[in-house]
Amino acid sequence: MTQARIVQVALPVPSAELFLYSVPERFSEGMAAGKRVFVPFGRRKAIGYVVGRGTEEKVDFELKDVIDILDEAPLFGERRLEFFRWLSDYYMTPLGMVLKAAHPMGLGKTVGRIVRITDEGKRRASSAVGVEKRILSALLLDERPTSEKLLELAGGASVEDLNSLQRKGLAEFDYVVLSDEKIRREKMYSASGAVDSEVIAALKKKKPAKGAVLEFVAESGPVSRSRLEDIFGRFTAHARWLEENGLISVEFVEVRRDPYAGRGTGEAAPEKLTQDQRAALDRLLPFVRDGRFRSFLLHGITGSGKTEVYIRAAREAVGKGKQVLVLVPEISLTPLLVGRFRSRFRDSVSVVHSGLSEGQRFDVWRSARSGETSVVVGARSALFAPLENLGLVVVDEEHDASYKQDETPPYNARDAAVVLAKTHGCPVVLGSATPSLESHSNAVTGKYEYLSLPARVGRNLLPEVELVDMKNVKENVFSPRLRSALEENFAAGGQSILFVNRRGFSGFLVCGGCGELLRCRNCSVTLTFHRTDNSVKCHCCGVSGEFENRCTVCGSRYSGKGPGTQSVESQVKEILPEARVRVMDRDAASGKTRLLDLYGSLESGEVDVLVGTQMIAKGHDLPGVTLVGVLCSDHMLAVPDFRSGERTFQLLTQVAGRTGRGKSPGRVILQTYNPEHPSVRFAVVHDSSGFLEQELELRESLRQPPFSRFISLRANGQDEEKTRDFARKMKLEAERFLRKAPPGSLRVLGPSEAPVYRMKNRFRWHMALVSENTGLLRGCASVLRSSLKKHASGVKLSVDVDPYNFM
Ligand code: ADP
Ligand code: ZN
Ligand code: ZN
Repeated sequence: MTQARIVQVALPVPSAELFLYSVPERFSEGMAAGKRVFVPFGRRKAIGYVVGRGTEEKVDFELKDVIDILDEAPLFGERRLEFFRWLSDYYMTPLGMVLKAAHPMGLGKTVGRIVRITDEGKRRASSAVGVEKRILSALLLDERPTSEKLLELAGGASVEDLNSLQRKGLAEFDYVVLSDEKIRREKMYSASGAVDSEVIAALKKKKPAKGAVLEFVAESGPVSRSRLEDIFGRFTAHARWLEENGLISVEFVEVRRDPYAGRGTGEAAPEKLTQDQRAALDRLLPFVRDGRFRSFLLHGITGSGKTEVYIRAAREAVGKGKQVLVLVPEISLTPLLVGRFRSRFRDSVSVVHSGLSEGQRFDVWRSARSGETSVVVGARSALFAPLENLGLVVVDEEHDASYKQDETPPYNARDAAVVLAKTHGCPVVLGSATPSLESHSNAVTGKYEYLSLPARVGRNLLPEVELVDMKNVKENVFSPRLRSALEENFAAGGQSILFVNRRGFSGFLVCGGCGELLRCRNCSVTLTFHRTDNSVKCHCCGVSGEFENRCTVCGSRYSGKGPGTQSVESQVKEILPEARVRVMDRDAASGKTRLLDLYGSLESGEVDVLVGTQMIAKGHDLPGVTLVGVLCSDHMLAVPDFRSGERTFQLLTQVAGRTGRGKSPGRVILQTYNPEHPSVRFAVVHDSSGFLEQELELRESLRQPPFSRFISLRANGQDEEKTRDFARKMKLEAERFLRKAPPGSLRVLGPSEAPVYRMKNRFRWHMALVSENTGLLRGCASVLRSSLKKHASGVKLSVDVDPYNFM
């Protein structure tokens, strides 16, 4: 796009338009689609993405000039742009917002806000008080700080304080391009050409310490600063002396931050594939080889060796010089899975997860873009890794709800992955032990090709699952059956996992006097008691405080209902005083290394009983585990969501799959109040095809997805009355649209108060549009969105396409 005089720019603002800018002569050489530009926008300045050329004929007003180009090379090519356009269109999100979400921070240059004091500000500085005074004094000392730096200088001030100063005319903002280079460089030392064993020996005699450093550098080739520091401690004086005397040379080399470097399980590739693995690969490999698009659903029970199928297919693609994207749920990004890929693909694997620092994220991005990385393994957002030369896409645990992002853009990485593969002309494999109804139905209609691994590898059998009907049991946490199974398993030296669906000590607290539930003051959800620090926490907004055992209404004491991980832990300690018990939930896993440690101690047999939430349900291969107990299988069934039956089945199946992976057969005990429920019944006999068939019938009779599509409109506001009012307007607008639509072609559910009516101090209303006609559905959502804009008054409206979250 050399010499483009006018460019089309996508800006991350809530407008579906693209904006036109003129390109000054001095930029015309460097301008290209895929680069970021800094442009004036209204009274502000903003970063946008160049997506194409504009034409002069269409504009009859003066275009503004591009201020600067931020990138030397385009961030994305034509094919990626096509994919981004699809995301923007399908998920009803402006292209600029999609592009912003898809690119990590710190890509070379960024834009910062500079704050300047005005004359009025100078006059007021001496008479101001509090935060205002602190900010103004800081501004008198430092004339043009960035807003971050200013907030630091003025200790305890917030962005809102700065904005208020600007509104009062005491400070002004200016936006400028800042360098934000995240490339890390490290000093590397190497010996000069003249250094040989004689030189070293002579030096060691005269100056032993310097001689030792020189010897090491000469023998180990270029050595990094950190390596030398590890070995010699303080060595910089020696290094400087050696450098000054011409014995070593120093240079700066770019390094990549790779938290997984060198980490592999050392696991060898299995010698022979199973017959089922072979059959699946025979179908899949030709598409990898020829670079042809096709979607496959790999339905393989837990422990059937799906990972090996992914790895073989990936090897084929990499062998042809292609790149591979492997998506997994965040929760199963375990050292184990990563290690398997590492062992087979060495350092050409990059891992993306939410714990990466900005710098690490940027490094992954860069090496994917440059082609250094052949395989990217990562959670949802890895979809945006810039793999231009894609030859295979894998989505493991394709049914997992974490692939769906609720916020803007509300994409489902599983569905987007299929489109991505299509754009690149390569196959995509969706794998699961419990496929989603959507993918299952695509396999039924032949849109996806169905591959099956119906048996576990080797002689490992599926565990026997026993049901305990809790309606017939006095105890409300441990039935006598589970209790004795736990005792027997411990006595026999086996490991046990107990599955609880709540963190903390008890599910909720209820007053013994008046029956009031202890609730969060910002959200309409119950607070959870944590015994370790005698606190109550809201698992919705994170607020926590000391627990005072006095009802705020009547003053009586509270009692806990519904067990949490902590109370189960302490009951296990009573049943088995000698057992080593550990808890794994989001609280326990919040330290980065603690989760790794926990896996380590499980694998090495240092833990007898693990108590955990659904974190433990996912893909950990733990051969020592011979008992799984599910304390209460019912909570999920009670969730008001058409997928609750599906989720319950998937979770129970996953949990049961955690056992029997080693030599001894496993045992699973499910405690439930709903032993007749299909989700429970089919899970007990490991019959996912049976479950899918009957659930599909149910969905068809109710016209629920996959037999229709949903778009949900969510409104939230701080003012209860205004939000309710807005919800009424939603209804009116929807009815107006319905009158014009063909009868029966569109249904409107709600609006109604969301199941969690208050969250983070905002009141929430939901409305869902349902139709089999996606064009009509999206048309309706977009008409409603634009006509509701004028009623907003402090109420936020968000649109979610194919929603997963109905809470
Ligand atoms: P899944 O992902 O389907 O639950 P895994 O990929 O974890 O199953 O495989 C289960 C176990 O079987 C792993 O320990 C894996 O190394 C092993 N395995 C996979 N394929 C083979 C094979 N062809 N021969 C021997 N062992 C295998
Ligand atoms: Zn009370
Ligand atoms: Zn809360």
